[in-house]
Amino acid sequence: RTVYVNGDYLPEEDAKISIFDRSFLMADGVYEVTSVLGGKLIDFDGHAKRLERSLNELEMQKPEAFDDLLEIHRELVRANDIVDGMIYLQVSRGSAGDRDFAYPDASVKPTLVLFTQSKPGMADSPMAKTGMKVISIEDARWGRRDIKTVQLLYPSMGKMMAKAAGCDDAWLVEDGFVTEGTSNNAYIVKGDTIITRQLSNDILHGITRAAVLRFAREAQMKVEERSFTIDEAQDADEAYITSASTFVMPVVELDGKAIGTGKPGTVAARLREIYLEESRKAAI
Ligand code: PMP
Repeated sequence: RTVYVNGDYLPEEDAKISIFDRSFLMADGVYEVTSVLGGKLIDFDGHAKRLERSLNELEMQKPEAFDDLLEIHRELVRANDIVDGMIYLQVSRGSAGDRDFAYPDASVKPTLVLFTQSKPGMADSPMAKTGMKVISIEDARWGRRDIKTVQLLYPSMGKMMAKAAGCDDAWLVEDGFVTEGTSNNAYIVKGDTIITRQLSNDILHGITRAAVLRFAREAQMKVEERSFTIDEAQDADEAYITSASTFVMPVVELDGKAIGTGKPGTVAARLREIYLEESRKAAI
């Protein structure tokens, strides 16, 4: 695999960053994952804008190559023959050659790393037909989940708890309300209304969420952006999640209870179809 590190395209075994890099020592880094379908980038502009916002919120310098990110993504797709898959991008505050809680001064340049993951046929995931099972767990993450940082230990723990329970993912609950999934935004459907938590610092502002809600409104579906509980979700007609790597994925079971018919719902199926079709059209 060819990867990108600070201006260079290299074989992955030759790619190196410092052991003092603050992403390694302090999780002082932010990231984005952009999907590739048919060799083209899905929602690239949304991911680039959110990256810029994450950097601003953490007062992290923009990498010098920020304006070349589209070119870098395209070069990695080309070099690795990616048809369907993902591009992972990470920016960290870099390395001052020592360990220090205080941020280094501006002469220390951020570290920029990108790599690809090939996932042939990812848009035809069998899970879209069967749906996923989720458990609910406490949301024990920090309070700035709107910033896409690489502090992913608790989400990893959540996935492991789900796996141990024979499920696919966990929905996180704070003060009695679902915030989001470990790596996705969460939705329920009641009657003809789509319900998903309102944007705030409590959740990541999903790029897929923004696109799916736009398509839903354009298709005259009703959308309510508000918090919901596990009880309300278990009593819903449908549930689903969205993320750049899963698009729209139905949820059919929550804490052992079937949602609706226990089969993927028609609203989720329709949104998945619209999202994939429109995203492929708009891909660059
Ligand atoms: N919430 C969390 C916590 C996530 O990690 C992700 C995906 N990285 C999302 C939501 C979905 O965001 P997006 O649609 O931009 O992939």
